[in-house]
Amino acid sequence: MKGLVLKDLGRRFGAVDAVKDVNIELQPGEFLSLLGPSGCGKTTTLRMIAGFLAPTSGSIILDGVEVSSPQNSLPPEKRGMSMIFQSYAIWPNMTVAQNVAFGLNLRKLDRAEVKRRTGEMLEAVRLNMLADRYPSELSGGQQQRVALARALVIRPKLLLLDEPLSNLDASLREDMRFEIKRIHDEFRITSVYVTHDQSEAMVTSDRIAVINHGRVEQIDTPYEIYTRPKTRFVAGFIGRTNQLTGRRGAAGVDFTGFTLPDALFTGADTEVFVSIRPQSLHLSVEEPAENALKLPGRITARAFLGETWDYVFATEAGLEMRVVARPHEIYEVGAPVWAAAARDQVVQIR
Ligand code: ATP
Repeated sequence: MKGLVLKDLGRRFGAVDAVKDVNIELQPGEFLSLLGPSGCGKTTTLRMIAGFLAPTSGSIILDGVEVSSPQNSLPPEKRGMSMIFQSYAIWPNMTVAQNVAFGLNLRKLDRAEVKRRTGEMLEAVRLNMLADRYPSELSGGQQQRVALARALVIRPKLLLLDEPLSNLDASLREDMRFEIKRIHDEFRITSVYVTHDQSEAMVTSDRIAVINHGRVEQIDTPYEIYTRPKTRFVAGFIGRTNQLTGRRGAAGVDFTGFTLPDALFTGADTEVFVSIRPQSLHLSVEEPAENALKLPGRITARAFLGETWDYVFATEAGLEMRVVARPHEIYEVGAPVWAAAARDQVVQIR
């Protein structure tokens, strides 16, 4: 089977489970991000895939071959992978073209082939005009493109990227996300990308694995992760959200000052958690027609952000929610309003 499989993967450091029971299957050509806060275990996972660190449990299988387990470990250079780091790690004494050609020369390809593939790759990363420059004569973004070209030119089985954009300034970082996506779409090299930046993960990835305390909380497409978060952690980590806690009672599930029918929720726990995105709530002066959730209340604060209004809505009972509205939806602070959400926008989480 082609692709990458992480099977019950774990790594302990003393008493700390840095990575625990990670199960991920990557299809060939897929781009996966490992996303999570500092210390969640994403770098440890990547280092195990790369072969810099042995797992203490489980195994890693690349294109059908076990490359890592506690008993056996294929050295990094035998795994057919390329890696890109935060620091560009390109050779300062070589030109752009020489940097890109390096891996091909190492593999003793003939000169014409090296020239052809180097040229093709420089074109793909849009550096053909700068082929004879030295790294010191390039911007940060250009240097990172050289690193990308150098990593891809050898056609690795797997590309590993460890926070490759963190040294770039904000606007360049944004451009480079799309650049990475475009280049990946062209070459479809199976890729694993480590980042703590959710936008970076959302732009570049086919799927995202959200990691918390060494465990995968959810692995899904960016759209699913955002619209259907499964856990409180995922809902809070990806984008902004209103998280409400309800208690199951005789009449349904009681939230602060309102009750929703029990039939809307699964499970049998006494506590029920839901996530409602700020843009899933709609404000109106008149009471809205049928909606899963509709509450009377007031605007208690607002800010105009250009593309949107950011409102704080509060009910009599003291429940506060953030609401994002379009520029023409203007409500004054203190104004009585209704806030409503459709059934499928009230997402139950664990
Ligand atoms: P960051 O974004 O800050 O790099 P991360 O998600 O990549 O964080 P890891 O570097 O994988 O996190 O670390 C996961 C956990 O394992 C942390 O609690 C860390 O302190 C611990 N850890 C990592 N490497 C070692 C080590 N060599 N010895 C002991 N503990 C370690």
